[in-house]
Amino acid sequence: MESDEIDKAQSAQEEPDTIFDKIIRKEIPANIIYEDDQALAFRDVNPVAPTHFLVIPKERKGLTGLRRAVKSHTNILGHLLLIASQVAIQEKLDEGYRVIINDGKHGGQSVYHLHLHVIGGKQLSWPPG
Ligand code: 5GP
Repeated sequence: MESDEIDKAQSAQEEPDTIFDKIIRKEIPANIIYEDDQALAFRDVNPVAPTHFLVIPKERKGLTGLRRAVKSHTNILGHLLLIASQVAIQEKLDEGYRVIINDGKHGGQSVYHLHLHVIGGKQLSWPPG
């Protein structure tokens, strides 16, 4: 599963509309666990841990990945982290969890709409490969 994602990341690129835009517009189903006017959290379709959800901005505003972050994104970046924390509480990840942002090919990014992975529900190992 993990190597599939890395394979996908080799050819993934920025595009005007991603699968996440379709989830935001409710054109394709997703297990949405949190939503507000700026952000959406939903379960990852290929979970790598007992709990694995993604937090995304509803409007991408140039944030295809973290590398595109500029000062005007400060508020949304902070908001996404706060939502990650709040949804982790909602998901009862009381023993802890990990927040990950994959960036670009080496980071294993396959969808070019900024997203935070939140994984937990088991003892995670370190370092990642
Ligand atoms: P990345 O590899 O870009 O950091 O993470 C993209 C994540 O999006 C992957 O973990 C992948 O499983 C997830 N994903 C891709 N397509 C879909 C989808 O259609 N629905 C959901 N819920 N997750 C998806």
